Amino acid sequence: MKIKQVYKGGKPVLSLEIFPPKENYPLETVFETVDELKKLSPSYISVTYGAGGSTRERTVEIASRIKNEYGIESLAHLTCVRHTRAEVDKILDELAHEGVYNILALRGDLPDDDPEFDIHKQEYRYAYELIQDARSKDDFGIAAAAHPEGHPECKRLNEDLINLKHKVDNGVDFLITQLFFDNRIYYDFIDKALRININCPIIPGIMPVLNARQIKRIIYLCGASIPSKLLNLVDKYEHNPADMEKAGIDYASQQVLDLIESRVPGVHLYTMNKPAQITRIVTNVNLAGHK
Ligand code: FAD
Repeated sequence: MKIKQVYKGGKPVLSLEIFPPKENYPLETVFETVDELKKLSPSYISVTYGAGGSTRERTVEIASRIKNEYGIESLAHLTCVRHTRAEVDKILDELAHEGVYNILALRGDLPDDDPEFDIHKQEYRYAYELIQDARSKDDFGIAAAAHPEGHPECKRLNEDLINLKHKVDNGVDFLITQLFFDNRIYYDFIDKALRININCPIIPGIMPVLNARQIKRIIYLCGASIPSKLLNLVDKYEHNPADMEKAGIDYASQQVLDLIESRVPGVHLYTMNKPAQITRIVTNVNLAGHK
């Protein structure tokens, strides 16, 4: 099934993102997470990909088992930077061989620890090129990333939006957003996207803040702005992990409730492989089982 179909049902769709365990951890640990997440009846589970191919086998295997053993639709992330066209072709073949026909087509972050890296020498420079290649191959359902606060490399949000429009026009079924902590940022972004005729579903990506350290990492990785309400919570509970986690779950639950009330097509939760905390959010907002 192509995932885009689930967004035609009228009810808010629950989707979840997990990541493969690091190489030195047994692969099976991720299936303990999936066992728990399955109870929430998500419409699909997405599996991240290490830029440059570091999780290649694991991403393919996990996406395959979610689909074939758990009977849950899976969305395999695939990043193209630092891959050749021949490598991408092979990975798409591997996914198709496993019956995984939905991908989240990404460029991937540029390496900041490789002075030799030159984007101009890459076979892929942007995600839209991967989308073009995937479209010309097997019959894949294709999702892509959207950045409501603008992608950090792009100086102007308007320019980033035009690049996004170009990406979507190359064959994207739906978009999943980078995380954000203020829903107004998402609503403004939707308005701007609609104004330039980006008409596919744009699914909000929500990540609960479960500890104070995470905030610093989020700012470093994607530059998301942190509203003072959330910063105050982090200040208040910085040295009290249990209360910080509870406050983070409540904050994310409020965000999701507001989004559902505003009739978003679905909510994509970045689970960070933490099923207990994600279960509490999904239960708080009564989103389980809305397949
Ligand atoms: P692109 O759409 O290619 O955009 C990258 C930059 O290039 C932007 O600044 C854009 O404005 C600019 N640009 C795009 N097209 C053009 C053009 N035609 N001309 C000029 N400029 C252009 N990373 C991982 O490594 N693994 C993952 O599994 C992963 N999953 C993610 C899931 C989601 C939902 C999101 C939002 C991000 C994820 N990322 C992941 C991070 C992502 O790879 C990075 O944000 C990356 O830096 C950009 O990827 P992109 O696909 O948005 O790139």
